[in-house]
Amino acid sequence: MTHDEYVAYIRERYSDLFDPTNSDEDWRYLVTIGPGWWHLFTDFCEQMESILRHHDEVGRWYIRQAKEKFGELRIYVRPAPYERTDVDGFSEWVDDIDPPEPSAVQEMISIVREQIVGRANHTCEDCGEPGGLRVIDGWYRTCCDRHFHELQEAKGSI
Ligand SMILES: [Zn+2]
Repeated sequence: MTHDEYVAYIRERYSDLFDPTNSDEDWRYLVTIGPGWWHLFTDFCEQMESILRHHDEVGRWYIRQAKEKFGELRIYVRPAPYERTDVDGFSEWVDDIDPPEPSAVQEMISIVREQIVGRANHTCEDCGEPGGLRVIDGWYRTCCDRHFHELQEAKGSI
């Protein structure tokens, strides 16, 4: 499966978890992680979907981005833009504001995310084999021994 095919799969299979107004251009940068972490992100989506369905909050939370930063898996989840009505009855769309207090769903999603990120910390982003955080010339990567050596060779450090 290519990266494009994986993203297309996620977009189709877990359409409830993403803002329907995302453009094709948005989708180019929504999920940028390597193939070794795909199964972890799929697992996250699966669990997030069941949390939202169980609590009847489908469409209230969206995944904004899944990416690698400093060798770590980062998954950003935000409340959906929602319609807010103030005392004068004037309503407007408000984007990305935090709900007034942490909800049970928000906490459950955070717990699932911590578990998934914890697993990613020990999983090669390239191939999914056991790995760990490596540093090459100040550049962070979570990978297995084999891919670490390949990276070192590619960087001419050996
Ligand atoms: Zn590897």
